[in-house]
Amino acid sequence: MNYRVAIIPGDGIGPEITREARKVLDRVCAIYGHSFEYKEILLGGASIDVHGIPLTEEAIKEARNSDSILMGSIGGDAKSSPWYQLEPEKRPEAGLLKIRKELNLFANVRPAYLYKELKEACPLRDEIIGNGFDMVIMRELTGGLYFGERKTFIENGIEKAIDTLAYDEKEIRRIAKRAFEIAIKRRKKVCSVDKANVLDSSRLWRKVVEEVAKDYPEVMLEHMLIDNCAMQLVKDPKQFDVILTENMFGDILSDEASMVTGSIGMLSSASLNEGKLGLYEPSHGSAPDIAGKDIANPIATILSAAMMLRYSFDLEKEADAIETAVKQVLIDSYRTVDIMSKGKTLVGTIKMGDLITERIR
Ligand code: ATP
Ligand code: MG
Repeated sequence: MNYRVAIIPGDGIGPEITREARKVLDRVCAIYGHSFEYKEILLGGASIDVHGIPLTEEAIKEARNSDSILMGSIGGDAKSSPWYQLEPEKRPEAGLLKIRKELNLFANVRPAYLYKELKEACPLRDEIIGNGFDMVIMRELTGGLYFGERKTFIENGIEKAIDTLAYDEKEIRRIAKRAFEIAIKRRKKVCSVDKANVLDSSRLWRKVVEEVAKDYPEVMLEHMLIDNCAMQLVKDPKQFDVILTENMFGDILSDEASMVTGSIGMLSSASLNEGKLGLYEPSHGSAPDIAGKDIANPIATILSAAMMLRYSFDLEKEADAIETAVKQVLIDSYRTVDIMSKGKTLVGTIKMGDLITERIR
């Protein structure tokens, strides 16, 4: 098949890690007989340096015209980079928020997976992690508290601020459907997380999720309160398959879930809209402290490319081939510095990309 893939190398380690992901994709194309047409797009600091703004209309058009987008990472060192002298709406991250909004990327999918081979990096005790855990967090990305009405004002001489957490049933329904569709391809369990004992928006959330669940009788649904879920992620992460939740709860839980795996350089993510277009990127940031040194771990970006094949192009076999190659490299004891441990073989960014590429079958 033929696909147009937009690549956003971005800032910091972004260009180095996207280059490795592209190498892996080229190999997949060669073996499975596909052809990808790549188009590079500037976003973030890289765009500010050339165009003075973090995202141009031209770039948005290019993104819309592609079948999918693979991104490195955006932003620089907030203390020393000249980008952060600019007003907030002109900084690198503003470009990212804008593209999410322009493309209506409402569903943020973040797997949190613990590889057996990387158990030493996990901060949880052995008896808790057992053979490892494998969950996906489905976070609503374009509604809720972060997008509700807000104001700061003086009332009776006292300064006051208000944020609004609002959802309508349509917004809840579309993200819930996404979660169930992903669960069907996995262990068929959805845990919907809310604060229904306190919030009206959570009570609506629960009601709509229950309705959606009726269309997926083979998937088991449970509800959990956010405070309990935060605890359960540390106490017994193996119980989770797909966690479905609103924007702010998902923001917090996905960071917690990625930290309990202990290896930020390994975790991918996808932001999806109602169609097939998605924006795929590693969960980690631009790591300016290690940029240009050939030491960054490219695996999170390579696994994001695998997610792209699975979710945007329905290329299951090809996505599996990438994930299997990554597992094989770990079994063969190769490690980048962020996941290095005693007795393993230390390799750099390019070498890690080569080793995974060689193992694509
Ligand atoms: P952001 O604010 O952009 O989300 P951050 O500043 O919170 O990100 P990162 O940029 O992800 O965090 O970096 C946190 C630490 O993890 C840094 O020390 C960085 O070098 C390291 N790190 C991040 N990604 C990788 C990677 N792919 N390989 C190796 N180390 C990494
Ligand atoms: Mg940062």
